[in-house]
Amino acid sequence: MYLKSIEVQGFKSFANKIVFEFHNGITGIVGPNGSGKSNVADAVRWVLGEQSAKQLRGASMQDVIFSGTENRKPLGFACVAITLDNSDHKLAIDFEEVTVARRVYRSGESEYLMNGTSCRLKDVHELFYDTGIGKEGYSIIGQGQIDKILSGKPEERRELFDEAAGIVKFKRRKMVAQKK
Ligand code: ATP
Ligand code: MG
Repeated sequence: MYLKSIEVQGFKSFANKIVFEFHNGITGIVGPNGSGKSNVADAVRWVLGEQSAKQLRGASMQDVIFSGTENRKPLGFACVAITLDNSDHKLAIDFEEVTVARRVYRSGESEYLMNGTSCRLKDVHELFYDTGIGKEGYSIIGQGQIDKILSGKPEERRELFDEAAGIVKFKRRKMVAQKK
């Protein structure tokens, strides 16, 4: 399984629709300060369900929508879609390729899509449990996160090990069952 592409439109500094294509291997994104490198990582966090504006370096959730420049008007919505190669079926879904998309409008309306079909945030979370992908996964290591892991509480560190061991989905199911 690997990330094939990231499509952004109206997300932060990316007003026009842009598709970043990746191949199986290492890709580096380079550019001058303020050119949008971190915005690419923010896009991936966001599409995986990030709910905290602070994590996305904004004050409110609407801050992810392109806010305009001197010669370009603000846009009314932001959309990000990531496509993963699933030919090894590491993701428990019967498709060779999985596209997860998230869209938000200035009105606050928002939606998630999985291979073009509207779904819940919960479905996105469940798809990525125990894969290391996901906003709490270890596949996205943000600035300052290593520090947080090292100096964090043992219970917080434990979450990372649970994810790597592949037992998060069982813990979640147990929690839901106990609530009923
Ligand atoms: P550095 O090398 O300093 O880390 P970077 O390449 O990571 O820079 P980013 O932080 O990704 O840069 O991009 C910052 C740019 O994104 C700023 O110019 C900021 O104005 C722009 N930006 C952020 N949010 C929006 C938005 N909602 N609308 C338009 N532009 C935005
Ligand atoms: Mg940066």
